[in-house]
Amino acid sequence: MIIKFPLIPDGYCVNLFGSIWTRDASWITDKVINHEKIHTAQQRELLFLPLYILYIIEWAVKLIRYRSSRQAYLNLSFEREAYRHGPDLTYLPRRRHYAWLKYLCKS
Ligand SMILES: [Zn+2]
Repeated sequence: MIIKFPLIPDGYCVNLFGSIWTRDASWITDKVINHEKIHTAQQRELLFLPLYILYIIEWAVKLIRYRSSRQAYLNLSFEREAYRHGPDLTYLPRRRHYAWLKYLCKS
């Protein structure tokens, strides 16, 4: 489900409990939806709330490491899985549970 929300900057979206929140949905492609579906799978296997807690902790650790909020974001294990496999629309049915763990310690 895509929800239009004016407080989100243009060109960005946020996945909250499986819903995609964005200002304008016109830029949302199948690949973006697949990226967000991967996040929804990650959230489900972590029972939602723990994912957000782990996401913030990992981001803080990677912010110290990379000294760049953008690089910290791009190197989050959850984002690395989603960016790597987002373009592959056949990925989700064959995705293994906790696949994001594979990206946790890779640099
Ligand atoms: Zn993402």
